[in-house]
Amino acid sequence: MTPILPETRDTNMAYEIDYIPVGDGEKSGDAILLRFGNLIGPRSEQTVVVIDGGFKDSGEKIVEHLSTYYGTTEVDLVVSTHPDADHASGLSVVLENCTVTNLLIHKPWEHAEDIKSLFKDGRITASGLEEKLEKSLQHASDLEAMAREKGIKIVEPFQGVTGFSNVMLVLGPSQEYYEGLLALFRSTPSPIESLAKLLAPVQKAAEEVINWLEDTFEIDLLNDDDDTTSAENNSSAVILFTIDGHKLLFTGDAGKTGLLSAAEYAEGQGIALTDLSFLDVPHHGSKRNLSSKVLAKIKAGTAFVSAAEGSPKHPAKKVTNALKKHGARVYVNNKGNTIQHGHNAPDRSNWGPAPEEIFHSRVEE
Ligand SMILES: [Zn+2]
Repeated sequence: MTPILPETRDTNMAYEIDYIPVGDGEKSGDAILLRFGNLIGPRSEQTVVVIDGGFKDSGEKIVEHLSTYYGTTEVDLVVSTHPDADHASGLSVVLENCTVTNLLIHKPWEHAEDIKSLFKDGRITASGLEEKLEKSLQHASDLEAMAREKGIKIVEPFQGVTGFSNVMLVLGPSQEYYEGLLALFRSTPSPIESLAKLLAPVQKAAEEVINWLEDTFEIDLLNDDDDTTSAENNSSAVILFTIDGHKLLFTGDAGKTGLLSAAEYAEGQGIALTDLSFLDVPHHGSKRNLSSKVLAKIKAGTAFVSAAEGSPKHPAKKVTNALKKHGARVYVNNKGNTIQHGHNAPDRSNWGPAPEEIFHSRVEE
């Protein structure tokens, strides 16, 4: 393990997590805040982390939330889990309006030389690839450029990166897995055949008709079929925070393949993910990202889903049901509301308890 982010300052540990609402209708996104340390003490005894920023307007909400509830606009760490706009674009507002010390972000363009042999067309050059990646992943390249300009420390979130006196550990992706995925990104040329084993994107029908099924606590409706989420999603940083013995897992939009390899890495480090205090449900609760195999290895007492208000498919009811079957209390921020979870966190006088997601007897097929 390579400790490259700062040490923590305090051992009097409490934490709070906030999910800011992002998007509406079809457009879900993530904008997550985490604060830990001595939450009733001064700012210097606390660590503030922002994990993804949703769209631009959610970036503004993050800045507002930081000053209203955390009493600061100093952010120790910003994490950009993957380059999709619903996660990365709001972070530029955070970098612009806050004092940020560290940024975890992948720099796809810096891997061009490593991946140029992964394409069918042998004439592809590193510089051509670099340019393609930088252009197509504009939100990420803008963020990196802005961070460089501001002198923010930039680290790529690969397996084994730690920070804050081992409170933080990146479980995935490994650099090797990441580079394979990169060759499968939408903007790169046709990859060599053997890469298909990394994941198996299945063509979706243009119009997905929703069929309804009955669900009960005794049956298992999640399928363990091939991974059908995108390479971009599977490239998401999967990050574990362990605070005062409580394990909090953040997953971005990682799919089954990404999550299983993160779980395997954790296992190898002697870390169980079956007793998590908190799970960030991947990809807005999409039915493509969780399987029974994943839930056999990753279980939590509390699970949060970030889904847009009025989203027709996020979260999938069979996903929230499956999480409940595995013992989680499930909460979703899809009413345009922020939801909070904490341990020894200060009370917010005007905040009531969020209603738990119910068990749905009818779910999408
Ligand atoms: Zn997303």
